[in-house]
Amino acid sequence: MHPKNLAIQTFQQKFGAPPAFVARAPGRVNLLGEHVDYNDGFVLPAAIDRATYLAFSPAASGETRLYAADFNESACFTPETLESKTEPDGKAMAEWARYPAGVMWALNRASLDTPALNGVFSSDVPRGSGLSSSASVEMSFGVAWQKLGGWEITPMRMAQLGQQAENGYVGVNCGIMDQFASACGEAGRLLYLDCRSLSWQTMPLPDDISIVVADTSIRRKLTTGEYNRRREACETAVRLLKEHLPGITALRDVSLEDFNRLCVTLPEEVEMRARHIVTEIERSRQAIPLLESGNLARFGGLMNECHLSLRDLYQVSCPELDVMAMLAQSIPGCYGARLTGAGFGGCTVNLVKNEHTSAFAQDLTQKYTEITGLQPEIYICRASAGAGLVEF
Ligand code: ADP
Ligand code: MG
Repeated sequence: MHPKNLAIQTFQQKFGAPPAFVARAPGRVNLLGEHVDYNDGFVLPAAIDRATYLAFSPAASGETRLYAADFNESACFTPETLESKTEPDGKAMAEWARYPAGVMWALNRASLDTPALNGVFSSDVPRGSGLSSSASVEMSFGVAWQKLGGWEITPMRMAQLGQQAENGYVGVNCGIMDQFASACGEAGRLLYLDCRSLSWQTMPLPDDISIVVADTSIRRKLTTGEYNRRREACETAVRLLKEHLPGITALRDVSLEDFNRLCVTLPEEVEMRARHIVTEIERSRQAIPLLESGNLARFGGLMNECHLSLRDLYQVSCPELDVMAMLAQSIPGCYGARLTGAGFGGCTVNLVKNEHTSAFAQDLTQKYTEITGLQPEIYICRASAGAGLVEF
């Protein structure tokens, strides 16, 4: 059943009446600008047409009662039980409930009212595969409390509060991109975000192009250490390059020319990591005129270059991601393919001409399974609108 209908039906069963409202918030995929958010770079995500749907009504009881239809689990909290991450009866809050509770926490800290609600939610954003199911859950609750609280903030502000929820309450160190894309998405458009100034704009994605996400089915645990080491290498690069370029505060400020001149002063590993960042930021700058003029062939070429850079310089790929990206690049109708997200497993993102998408998906699945023995998941997506209330 479609998650929207499941949320509505389950709401009726659990609360004995139809919901007053339904909120929708999409997942996202990033097309270019990988690992550059913490280097003040540019990212190019799109909200996708897979989303979390939250059916909700105001609750008179003062307690927010939630039901996660995809887990068949309920949870309950109030502003008073938030700090202790417990339910009113004292039991520990379920992990999934920390995302909505975190949103309440972040909104309250910003002095935004979060009236108690009864809610049921369900999602077709796959969990934990890098399409940001967590941000979609957060943004659906942001929309709900905005409606019931009677206040209004910009989608970007909502995204920031969602990020605070995830950083400060759930305890996950994510950047702003996920919540930003879920909150600010536009149908048929890519988003272009400057991670330093947070200014953003949209870019056209031609109607005849689909975003195809291919999940390797590989999940690597304990990648946080690798991630932190990459961040440290970037910081080291800035510190060392600062001796020659005193004005810089992030790798964003280093031109490719300066980098090529000064890279001999860096230890080898630091140089490799920083070269990925500097070239990736350069690629994302080049992407703008290409997208504006609809030159998907050259934009796809930048995606392919990005994969090689992530594989060879940033070293966050894995054999399954490499197989998936290389196979895709050789299939007709595919403009570009690369790993997306933090790496070490998860998904690739591919730009594919509409008329080729089914053949592409079949071909990719078959060849990937032949080589790896694994069964991939393929999601054919369209760029979609950001979070909001929907008709039902
Ligand atoms: P992702 O890359 O998908 O965002 P995360 O690990 O950041 O992966 O977030 C996944 C977590 O978000 C889940 O473990 C769960 O706690 C919460 N979540 C996501 N989708 C749902 C859902 N449909 N129902 C309940 N909780 C969800
Ligand atoms: Mg997440």
